[in-house]
Amino acid sequence: MNKFEQLGLSESLLKAILDLGFENPTEVQEKAIPLLLEKDTDMVALAQTGTGKTAAFGFPVIQKIDADNRNTQALILSPTRELCLQITNEIKNYSKYEKGINVVAVYGGASITDQAREIKRGAQIIVATPGRMQDMINRGLVNISQINYCILDEADEMLNMGFYEDIVNILSTTPDEKNTWLFSATMPAEVARIGKQFMRDPIEITVGAKNSGSATVSHEFYLVNARDRYEALKRLADANPDIFSVVFCRTKRDTQAVAEKLVEDGYSAAALHGDLSQAQRDGVMKSFRGRQIQMLVATDVAARGIDVDNITHVVNYQLPDEIETYNHRSGRTGRAGKLGTSIVIVTKSELRKISSIERIIKQKFEEKTVPSGIEICEIQLLHLANKIKDVEVDHEIDNYLPAINNVLEDLSKEELIKKMVSVEFNRFINYYKKTRDISNQSSGSERRDDRDGTPRENNNGGATRYFVNIGSRDNFDWMSLKDYLKETLDLGRDDVFKVDVKEGFSFFNTDPEHTDKVMEVLNNVQLEGRRINVEISKNDGGGRRDHNGRSSGGGFGGGRSSAPRREGSFAPRREGSGGGFRSDRNSAPREGGFGGRSSAPREGGFERRSSAPRSEGSSDRAPRRSESFGDAPKPRRPRRD
Ligand code: AMP
Repeated sequence: MNKFEQLGLSESLLKAILDLGFENPTEVQEKAIPLLLEKDTDMVALAQTGTGKTAAFGFPVIQKIDADNRNTQALILSPTRELCLQITNEIKNYSKYEKGINVVAVYGGASITDQAREIKRGAQIIVATPGRMQDMINRGLVNISQINYCILDEADEMLNMGFYEDIVNILSTTPDEKNTWLFSATMPAEVARIGKQFMRDPIEITVGAKNSGSATVSHEFYLVNARDRYEALKRLADANPDIFSVVFCRTKRDTQAVAEKLVEDGYSAAALHGDLSQAQRDGVMKSFRGRQIQMLVATDVAARGIDVDNITHVVNYQLPDEIETYNHRSGRTGRAGKLGTSIVIVTKSELRKISSIERIIKQKFEEKTVPSGIEICEIQLLHLANKIKDVEVDHEIDNYLPAINNVLEDLSKEELIKKMVSVEFNRFINYYKKTRDISNQSSGSERRDDRDGTPRENNNGGATRYFVNIGSRDNFDWMSLKDYLKETLDLGRDDVFKVDVKEGFSFFNTDPEHTDKVMEVLNNVQLEGRRINVEISKNDGGGRRDHNGRSSGGGFGGGRSSAPRREGSFAPRREGSGGGFRSDRNSAPREGGFGGRSSAPREGGFERRSSAPRSEGSSDRAPRRSESFGDAPKPRRPRRD
């Protein structure tokens, strides 16, 4: 009997769960489902987004409603249209083997008459945003006077967004006898007030500590000068070739500007903010979900309700005004049991905020140094080598082989490898050898409370950095690799540090006294029949010891490859901006070699893509070179709205 069967779920739900591939219930599901199935009770569940809470209320509600009765029996309120559609989708998936259950999504920005028509056909479950729901009630288009269940999802977000009155009005038109289940990541006073006013003796369940960040998210900050903020962002992206991220800015203007710069520099990025039309936002989200966008640059409001799994990094390009918002931002990664990293790019004047956030999330930040050019080059190079090794060959290419062989026949294997890799590497090395070190370092006293007081060596602290050909593909994360290395090398607890795991390879540091041992022992070890190869790396990985071994690379990559994106399919223009955006500008086109993008100038490659629309006159261009793109597509004419 698997763990889902022990929760009391029906056969049809268990069958759907099997199809969905859920192996075990998450903590919130394990806690909530048996209680909700067993009793008619109110419930307050403190759970972050990404913990599996939709199923925690979705399974019981599906099982409890009467599919033969066409009346509306359950109302689920959610803060955003995006989340509303997602919940509807999930509930449809969960109930696919239940006959006669109808779920309807009700949200703004779409035809109210169509939604009313769907409800009229019989909707036992309505999933709604508060504003549109209130509108429908006012117009008499919906009847929720007989519902048995009302679920408030992401209650804190709904109240943050100013829906208090709508929620109170909606709840007032529902019967007193119903059960209310309230799900919230945090418990501010307003949420508690709703609970008090509309719930009777709710059972309270908590997943993780109240108001605390998710255990699957690690938090790191990079101290830079304000003028280097954007350069730091690019380097962090370059050091994480598989990055799939949400980059948060404070204002719509900054969001648009950063996205435009990234696109101009050849990254697959797009902006998401309130000045875009609903259709534009939908387009951006579709591309993001489809992973045609690697870096979604967003405002806090626009990013609410983004429930996309496998986001590897949340980047706080700027910290939010309200530090409580940090929790919501970082909750976009580390979902569904996956690991994620929340990065803050911070200037000296903002350092104090880091300590305040640590108190809120009850987790420590790790201070990291922005990767040096050499480190990035090395990461990119190895990423490329792995990519070449793993690529599946499409045998269409066989037709061209004679001609290709003709061109390359005079090259030895070594020369061929060097040249192939140099196609990409030259671009990176040429770009990065000209750049300076942009990392700053906090002095400890600059933050209100110092962290663990551990002495840290300076950047060139003399540590030896190694490259090793095992990584997350071999089921290592930084912790298990650190353990494995300590054991294999018979070293002490802190002798292996700055362990940085990528997909097919990793880096780690030791003090120089261990170098001979590392080289000798590890190069003679086999892992599941494969010989381990260790080499001394050129970069020092920041040199400093840290305590958990995570380093700037992060690299919980979701296996993203840089598939070419459709031209002009994202990075929408601001509406009403007087046609100030050009389409498909074709700056720094890039190909798939190094995981897709970098700010460095690109050579001509196989895949070509052009950049998405941007506003004209964005002066502060990052370095790139156009003369090397002789074979790139020509820029199209400006697009007009
Ligand atoms: P939620 O917190 O409901 O938004 O869920 C986050 C993600 O986790 C969604 O993609 C769900 O489909 C997925 N999920 C929910 N429950 C489970 C489970 N028991 N096992 C694996 N994935 C799950």
